[in-house]
Amino acid sequence: MPTGKIIIAIDGYSSCGKSTIAKELATRLGYNYIDSGAMYRAIALYFLRNNIDLTNPVSIIAAIANINLTFEFNSLTQSSEIHLNDENVASYIRDMLVSDRVSEVAAIKEVRTFAVAQQKEMGRRKGIVMDGRDIGTAVFPDAELKIFMTADPEVRVMRRFKEMYDTNHNITIEEVRHNLELRDYIDSTREESPLHRAKDAVLLDNSGMTKTEQLELVIKWVREKAVMAR
Ligand code: C5P
Repeated sequence: MPTGKIIIAIDGYSSCGKSTIAKELATRLGYNYIDSGAMYRAIALYFLRNNIDLTNPVSIIAAIANINLTFEFNSLTQSSEIHLNDENVASYIRDMLVSDRVSEVAAIKEVRTFAVAQQKEMGRRKGIVMDGRDIGTAVFPDAELKIFMTADPEVRVMRRFKEMYDTNHNITIEEVRHNLELRDYIDSTREESPLHRAKDAVLLDNSGMTKTEQLELVIKWVREKAVMAR
């Protein structure tokens, strides 16, 4: 693999498998992987725990000033996990309670300004794979490789359901479908950096692809871009 390190921005709808491919890619390339959605989820968790009024900008600004987000590598799970004010919240942020509110929180301008500033800093030295909703459009508009992922909605619902069912046997397919539809709607229609495909993003529809096929295809794109970036 060429040595010129690049930035890889992966955006797309909820539960398209963005984090799976991003993680595999980062491992394969020796890059850092950043799950930007985990940052919005941790902020939403803080807002929920502290009953922050989402209609009150003063409370929002005060709350953000009390939030410190870091990613720490967990050798047990072999992954980088999000910490909210030094507490590992990786297992709480996937709760339906957080999933149900996160898109509302992520649509707030002050929240995005706070998160995006940290994300830009993380990419300063390149060699990073970041996934989210606005990575190729707002966080790294100059990323060497931008991927926009999509998949058949029913495929996404079933993937997400299986993932959540492992830790919550009370979850229903209907709840998962409703949550994905709602988040996609809010994320694509919000005023602040809505989810959309950047003009220069390559489209990856993985509905009928195996993980290996996807990874090989993306690695091919990385090779092309990394050669150009040298
Ligand atoms: O990626 P994940 O599904 O965990 O993201 C949770 C939510 O965080 C998304 O539905 C979206 O509202 C928000 N998000 C965002 N911008 C990003 C990443 C996530 O608005 N870059």
